[in-house]
Amino acid sequence: LAKDQGRARYEVFNDDLRGRIRRRVDTEIGLRTAVGRSEIETWYQPIVDLQNPRVAAAEALARWRRPEIGIVAPGDFIAIAEETGLIRDIGRAVLRQACSAATSLDADQAVSVNVSARQFVRSDFGTVVRRALLETGLAPGQLWLELTESAVIDVMDSATRTFDELRDLGVRLAIDDFGTGYSSFAQLRSLEVDLLKIDMTFIDNLVSSDRDQAIVRGILHLADSLGLDVVAEGIETSEQLELLRDMGCRYGQGYLFARPQPDISVAVLVH
Ligand code: C2E
Ligand code: MG
Ligand code: MG
Ligand code: MG
Repeated sequence: LAKDQGRARYEVFNDDLRGRIRRRVDTEIGLRTAVGRSEIETWYQPIVDLQNPRVAAAEALARWRRPEIGIVAPGDFIAIAEETGLIRDIGRAVLRQACSAATSLDADQAVSVNVSARQFVRSDFGTVVRRALLETGLAPGQLWLELTESAVIDVMDSATRTFDELRDLGVRLAIDDFGTGYSSFAQLRSLEVDLLKIDMTFIDNLVSSDRDQAIVRGILHLADSLGLDVVAEGIETSEQLELLRDMGCRYGQGYLFARPQPDISVAVLVH
């Protein structure tokens, strides 16, 4: 009996593993042709100015419109795209679409594009960005680039030239998912960024947790001292919004305002 159970468990594990490998290979194969077949779309979520109600920017978020399957979210393909290096083509397509879409915005509104470490460490990344701006006609000040905290750690030593190039171009740089990485303070010391995006895990329990409130207040205070703007991510309730507004947080983003959606001009109508 024990042996039967062991075997059954083994087969469950085995099927599960085999299924996972099959899905992963399948995703990778599909992803290889996704950009060429124009299956990568860019959706937009508003970033709202909490102090004077208006939309300051829209975050560009990749979506894969996969034939016969439908819309695939980044959680199901970005990691594989990064491992295989396909993120460079995907990221370039998103950057291009986002810059093009953002030309329809008001001159004081921006588009914020996620950049992976694998894009950033390439020596031509500054050129890629400059070309996207030139070819679409978007003003550099209307482009924000988001690097996750862990990506910043990866690129910190090798990409300082790219940082300088982008700063010279006049785009704004943001640290995404701030607070979740290992070396926040070292990064703030050595890299000149313009914005911090507080990770939504600090916003989730903000209303009920004194500790999370203390951490967010600390980040806001630090950002203020360094002259940085802050975006709070993942605002879902009006209580969170009121609290963040009272704390002096400049920008917010979250389902309370709007979910990501395909049309940038609709995304920035929210208020
Ligand atoms: P992120 O850059 O931190 O983007 C915010 C994510 O949180 C988005 O998920 C957004 O839809 C979601 N979100 C926004 N407000 C709320 C809220 O109130 N509640 C909850 N639960 N979620 C909210 P999404 O679009 O699925 O993207 C996930 C991640 O995938 C992004 O996190 C980013 O790290 C990555 N990603 C998306 N597009 C790209 C891209 O073009 N390039 C790269 N390198 N990464 C991308
Ligand atoms: Mg982001
Ligand atoms: Mg984030
Ligand atoms: Mg995130």
